[in-house]
Order: sequence, then structure tokens, then C-alpha cells
Amino acid sequence: MEKIKMTAPLVELDGDEMARVIWHLVKEKLLLPHIDLKTEYYDLHLKKRDETDDSITTNAAYAIKKHGVGVKCATITANEDRKIEYSLKTVSASPNGTIRKILDGTVFRKPITFCTITPLIPRWKKPITIARHSYGDVYTSTSMDVEAGTRAEIVLTSKDGREKRTTIFNFEEDGIVMGEYNLDSSIRGFARSCFMHALEEKCNLMFATKDTVVKAYDNKFKEVFEEYWDKYKKQFENAGIDYTYTLIDDAVSRIIKSEGGIIWACKNYDGDVMSDMVATGYGSLALMTSVLVSPDGSHEYEASHGTVKQHYYRHLKGESTSTNPIAIIFAWTGALRKRGELDANQDLVKFCDSLEQACRDTIDSGAVTKDLFELSSSENKKIVTTEEIIDLIAKNIKLKFQ
Ligand code: NAP
Ligand code: MG
Repeated sequence: MEKIKMTAPLVELDGDEMARVIWHLVKEKLLLPHIDLKTEYYDLHLKKRDETDDSITTNAAYAIKKHGVGVKCATITANEDRKIEYSLKTVSASPNGTIRKILDGTVFRKPITFCTITPLIPRWKKPITIARHSYGDVYTSTSMDVEAGTRAEIVLTSKDGREKRTTIFNFEEDGIVMGEYNLDSSIRGFARSCFMHALEEKCNLMFATKDTVVKAYDNKFKEVFEEYWDKYKKQFENAGIDYTYTLIDDAVSRIIKSEGGIIWACKNYDGDVMSDMVATGYGSLALMTSVLVSPDGSHEYEASHGTVKQHYYRHLKGESTSTNPIAIIFAWTGALRKRGELDANQDLVKFCDSLEQACRDTIDSGAVTKDLFELSSSENKKIVTTEEIIDLIAKNIKLKFQ
């Protein structure tokens, strides 16, 4: 059969360790036999980032902005240990942090569900997508120790030197204090991405804060979401979906009781914590995809897990590994499908559906990596290696294309 042609490029960001090994197997065995793959390639291997003083990461992010769609392999966030391990010049910034600073927007994390994989929370039948605001709040906060006898204040000094102040607390004993901030433009971008993504996915949207306690701060988030709800209401009605605002406590309880099938928009800290809760609830970190949707409409897809360091060290020793490639494959299908939709390339969209179905057929037949063995309800379940599962998926996709 003739290979599927692409008219516009996909921005490809290569990465590190076991994720990189799988990345190349996926390309070689699942994509290149069927697609005339057109990518603009950026190698974000830790050594390459170091050699280029990290300009490769910045260039890759701008390329996503230019072409609209990117797919990223997991990368090492350098630290002192990695500096020694890879003989680096410096400890570079987190690549995801650098990319998010340039693209802005919201990260949507969605679990991949299978008929034969029972989530740890069995009520969850459909995916729960966490939409995490990725700017400000506690992550850019300033905190200090306070001595007894101190008055802590917030002082706002305007350009012309005028001061507005309010007392936080009169400390009669030692304590601690913290200041955090956010920007209207970032909150707007967050709200807009959430409403846009809910429409794209035809999925209900829920947003929650603690506005009853954190009055001015959380109310701003609530009001911005209300404003966008007014704008998007008609389109939501037409798509048969809904928006709900509630308190964060109520949201947690609703999520646990739900069957899934919802996008849950979370402030930065809530999203950080709740995405781990949701990922664990579905059973495996390796069944979570992640997409960064920027306010200008660019999409960057990746697996939620990291480079799977320990498996890589075993791989380097020549030992066999049983690393789950599903989230990496779904990062590729997510990106290629988006490319297909933007370019009206039906063949590419159909290929992505078929590849995802081939993954489902494989997992549901009982061939699973080690992380899924306990969760699989298949009668024929058996643990296979990283290469074996990719070969089985390749066989299943070939069957579909014959
Ligand atoms: P990790 O790669 O997420 O792996 C942690 C553990 O989770 C693994 O040891 C493995 O558990 C399990 N796991 C994760 N993905 C799996 C998969 N596909 N199949 C099977 N099991 C899987 O985190 P890490 O090893 O602590 O971090 C390694 C590097 O990843 C770090 O340098 C970090 O900076 C980077 N990181 C990158 C990203 C990103 O680029 N998006 C995200 C997170 C971390 P078992 O060992 O029990 O099998
Ligand atoms: Mg977290």
C-alpha cells in the first residue's frame, strides 16, 4: 500500500533514556512503514541541549508556535547528579518549563482507558482530563520566616510611588508568611484554552476554586471563567456539553463519585496534586497523555511519564525491559491527528484511529507490559517485553491496512 502523505510538518522533539529508545522503535516499526513522515526534528537529548546552551529547546518551542503542532519525547531535567553523569557544562532549565514559558497555555492530562484494564477506582469508566493552569501561584511565591513582634503587610507601590497597604497578621510569636501572585492575561488564557478544549473534545467542563475563603484571589479566577462561559454558552449548548463551577472540596467529591468523562480545570497547585491522584486512580503513569494548548491555538503532545531512568539502565546492561510504550504512541497519534485535522488529511486521521485501535486490540488480547499485569482482567494475560509489545501492535496495525 502507498504511504500516507503529509502536507505540513510536525515539530518533533526527541528526548532521553528509555523514552528515547521507545520513541525510535515507535517511529521505525509503527509510523514509517505507513506514513511519509514529515517532521521538523529537534534533538533535545541532554547533551545536545548542553552543547547548544539550550538554544535547541527555545528554537523547538518557536517552531511549534510557527507550525502549530509538536510532539515531544520525555527529557531529563538536569540536576547536579546528571551534570556529572553526562559531563555537562551547566545545569540547564527544565525543557518543559522553557517550552511552557514560550507557548503559555494549559496542560491537559488525559488517561487512556482499555476494556480489560480496570482502574484502581473502578467507577471511572471514561477519562477524567485534568486541565492544569501552569503559571504563578505557589510556584512563583515568596515566603519568609517571621520573628515574634513583627507586623506582616502587603504593600503595593504604584509607578508614581503611591502605596496601598494591608496588614496580613500581627505576629506575637514566631511564624511564617508567604506572598503569591497571578496575571489576568494568564488566567484568561487558561480559561479560554479550557473552553476551547472542552468544545474540541465534546466533553463537560468543571472548574473549582476556594473562593469562599480566598476572596479576591480565587474570585478573579471564578469571574474570568464566568466571563468566558457567557461567550461560549451557545457553542456548548450546540455541542450538547455543559460547564459547572463549584468549590474545590465539592469537585473532589464529585470526581470520586463520577464515571469520568469530564475535563476538570484546576488552579496550578490543585492541578499538580490532583493529576497525580487521577493518574494513580486509573492505574498507571504510563497510560496518561498530556497536551499543552496555547492561547494562540498551538498544540504540543507528550506522554506524562518521564524518561524511565531505571529501565534505561537495565537496557544499557543488555537486560530485557518491559516498559509501556502506550502513552508515547498516543502522543504521536494525538499530534498526527491534530496535523491531519488542520490539513484536512483524512487518511492521516484514519491512520491515527487505526493505530490506537491496534494498541487496544493488543492490550485487550492480554499482552501487557509489567506495569499493567495486575490491572488486566484478560484471561490470557502475560507480560511481554518493550520490543515484543511494539511488534504485536505493528502486526495488529498491518492487519488493519491489508
Ligand atoms: P519516570 O520516568 O516517570 O518513572 C518513574 C517510575 O514509574 C519508573 O521507574 C517506572 O516504575 C514507572 N514508569 C514510568 N513510566 C513508565 C512506563 N512507560 N512503563 C512502565 N513503567 C513506567 O520518572 P523518573 O524515572 O523518576 O524520572 C526520570 C527522568 O524523567 C528525570 O530525569 C526527570 O527529570 C524526567 N521527567 C521528564 C518528564 C517530561 O519530560 N515530561 C516528566 C517527568 C520526569 P518501576 O521502576 O516500578 O517499573
Ligand atoms: Mg504532581
